[in-house]
Amino acid sequence: MVMEKLGGSLQDALKKLVKSGRIDEHTVNEVVKDIQRAMLQADVNVKLVMTMSNHIKERAMKEDVPSGMNPREHVIRIVYQELINIIGKGTDIPLKPQKIMMIGLQGSGKTTTTSKLARYFQRKGLRPAVICADTFRPGAYQQLKTLCGKLNVTFYGEEGNPDAVGIVERGLKEVEKYDVIIIDTAGRHSLEKDLIEEMEQIHAIAHPDYKLLVLDGAIGQQASEQARAFNDSIGISGVVISKLDGTAKGGGAISAVSETNSSIAFIGVGETPEDLEKFESDRFISKLLG
Ligand code: GDP
Repeated sequence: MVMEKLGGSLQDALKKLVKSGRIDEHTVNEVVKDIQRAMLQADVNVKLVMTMSNHIKERAMKEDVPSGMNPREHVIRIVYQELINIIGKGTDIPLKPQKIMMIGLQGSGKTTTTSKLARYFQRKGLRPAVICADTFRPGAYQQLKTLCGKLNVTFYGEEGNPDAVGIVERGLKEVEKYDVIIIDTAGRHSLEKDLIEEMEQIHAIAHPDYKLLVLDGAIGQQASEQARAFNDSIGISGVVISKLDGTAKGGGAISAVSETNSSIAFIGVGETPEDLEKFESDRFISKLLG
């Protein structure tokens, strides 16, 4: 059962409910405190944690335990639903011909994720092609070209040409026969105006079906500000949280997802092109609270 997979510390807290056999305020408060601790440790925004805690407390005390459920199951269900409210059920990127535009700050893992996505679609039997419009970071062209070469994925780029918009325009013509076209745009150190403008121009000519924001799983509360700026500019259709193979639990990224009302499409769990997982809320919640 899904809810049985909730994290270890929460499991311990919920045992208290089993012992008491009924829902009293003191026990609920203890459970909520344990959840708060886990979420704050994972770097989830404090306000978000507080709002969620209040919802859980209120609902656990007010709502009747549905027939066929014991008090423990009732509270787990509420906790789970409230977490899903924050994290979202996930963005499902369909397996069909489409254009995807990658956005994110420099170092977030955007270029690596571009190659991972190409590999993902390739494995599903669709023909991917990648356009390198990151003319800003030295080495981005070679990095992506090499990654694509290893995967036997078609790559379009113009080394040394700073005209990212022109590259996308020509690239789209060049690879139009491919099923999934993934455009890697220039990462930003911060949200510089000229780079935002460039991103908007690329967006206007490429008409991407999806705009995926890559957020480093280890990023803290700056994630929200970044996500908001990207969202205000071209809109985000999904988030990829990278580097979740380490100790990071992605709490900052979750706060950003919640704030921009977006949801998570994939998570990055390593440096190789195979290390991309479709987002699954149950597994994610389990790791977050574990
Ligand atoms: P970009 O500047 O956003 O294009 O960032 P890169 O794609 O070059 O990634 C920056 C660094 O993060 C590189 O060393 C990648 O190998 C590493 N990286 C990217 N995604 C992951 C991931 O999911 N897990 C781990 N461990 N490292 C990652």
